[in-house]
Amino acid sequence: MSDIETFEDLGLTEETLRALKDAGYTKPTPIQAQAIPHILMARDLVGLAQTGTGKTASFTLPMIDILSTGRAKARMPRSLVLAPTRELAAQVAENFDKYGKYHNLTKVLLVGGVSMGEQIKQLDKGVDVLIATPGRLLDLFDRGMMMLADMKVLVIDEADRMLDMGFIPDIEKIVSKLPPMRQTLLFSATMPNEVKRLTEKFLSNPRTVSVSAPATASKMITQNLTYVQPRDKKKVLTQIIKQEKVANAFIFCNRKRDIADLCAHLNREGYTAAAMHGDLVQKTRTETLAKFKNDEITMLVCSDVAARGLDVQGVSHVFNYDIPMHADDYVHRIGRTGRAGLTGVSWSLATKDDDKYIKEIEKITKSTLPVVEVGASAKSRPAQKPAENAPQEKSQPNNQQKNQGKPQDKKQARPRPVRNADKDVKSAPVASKAVEQKGKAAAHTPVDNHEQPLEIKRADHKASGGRLAKESKLIENYEKPNANNKGRNPRYKDDEPSDVVGFGDDLPSFMR
Ligand code: AMP
Repeated sequence: MSDIETFEDLGLTEETLRALKDAGYTKPTPIQAQAIPHILMARDLVGLAQTGTGKTASFTLPMIDILSTGRAKARMPRSLVLAPTRELAAQVAENFDKYGKYHNLTKVLLVGGVSMGEQIKQLDKGVDVLIATPGRLLDLFDRGMMMLADMKVLVIDEADRMLDMGFIPDIEKIVSKLPPMRQTLLFSATMPNEVKRLTEKFLSNPRTVSVSAPATASKMITQNLTYVQPRDKKKVLTQIIKQEKVANAFIFCNRKRDIADLCAHLNREGYTAAAMHGDLVQKTRTETLAKFKNDEITMLVCSDVAARGLDVQGVSHVFNYDIPMHADDYVHRIGRTGRAGLTGVSWSLATKDDDKYIKEIEKITKSTLPVVEVGASAKSRPAQKPAENAPQEKSQPNNQQKNQGKPQDKKQARPRPVRNADKDVKSAPVASKAVEQKGKAAAHTPVDNHEQPLEIKRADHKASGGRLAKESKLIENYEKPNANNKGRNPRYKDDEPSDVVGFGDDLPSFMR
């Protein structure tokens, strides 16, 4: 399949090619070039790819052509795409609209947070493509609103995230109701054992195609880490927002109750802030996102529900008000900025108890997060061993350290990353472009390239015994499973939501 260069080479129908032309795509992305021919040959497929690689089109395009012959019967959908969140499901639905515009296929989006009535009406008419989050699909199935016996194609999208969210039992239940003669496609960024087990159980002699890269933070993002006392978090956050001339930002909290509190604080400080998390009704989430996109809201205080899939052009900053407990979430969170060729800045507010999580983040991003001291409340980073895989030989003092003229204490110093931003960001289209695009006055520049306000300076590493609070203590703060969330990972109870387009995560490799 390596000689595929154009969409025409893939064997797609003329109508689909026309829709692709309308979308302005000139050539298939690597995952599309590899996956589409297998899918059109009716093979089962495992696709190792992240969002942002063009993965959604790699299954929607051939599905449209496969389903273009035949008709759906009432309440008997012909294909099913399972996605872990409402946003991702909505993104898949948008893909079907965009690429299927010259076909007469019907689709229905079955996600929580919207009324079932309309969804049931659509099912009654007969649908070619059912796009669903697992919970809502099972609810409707259990109520006898649909039969799954005519299902010809099944797609399990973001299988590793499904696992993370505790959806695997739901998926097994759903798949057990599908006919054995079907085509099954499974996409995942990583292949943990549980996902591997799923592929062995549900896919028949699948082809595996892979374009996945290990999680990496985009080179366009200038990352900062600052240590704070828990009680000073709000103060430090506002201080950074003021000093950095933040145009707009995603601010991630680990706990929903902190979201409301922080929103109120930011609004009191004169910013237009709004909350985004899974407990809000879908309508509110959609409206909030629209307001953020058109600058009526500049600070979106959110849970991880907004970490993946959300594509807002020209976001200048991402703040981790809390350090995420899962390193993958860090990469997804900061990936909301530094998109589509623009630069971005991220700030992570850590307490000494977060070191374990920071270590994991540094391990998967293969970098060492530069510690920046902010104001009086900042604490320098407790001494620790460099993260495995951290680029030790590349380490060298960065500009600020040089300027400060403070030689590092060799015993205590951790390897410093070479700031990608120093080099790459200067030559890249700057974030001010994002700001211009949004008609804003204040542009942000990478931290290393602008004059540092007095209060912000690099912290030298100090030895400290500061070790970790027990994870269990932190976990207590998350909601416990209950009858409604069916024992799903409490961390993600809030996960599922609204309208989304675009690159899910880092800049896709085909755009670099
Ligand atoms: P996905 O990985 O499915 O989230 O897709 C990421 C983004 O890439 C979406 O905004 C798509 O519209 C876009 N995209 C998908 N395929 C192509 C292509 N062949 N050329 C350019 N952009 C694409």
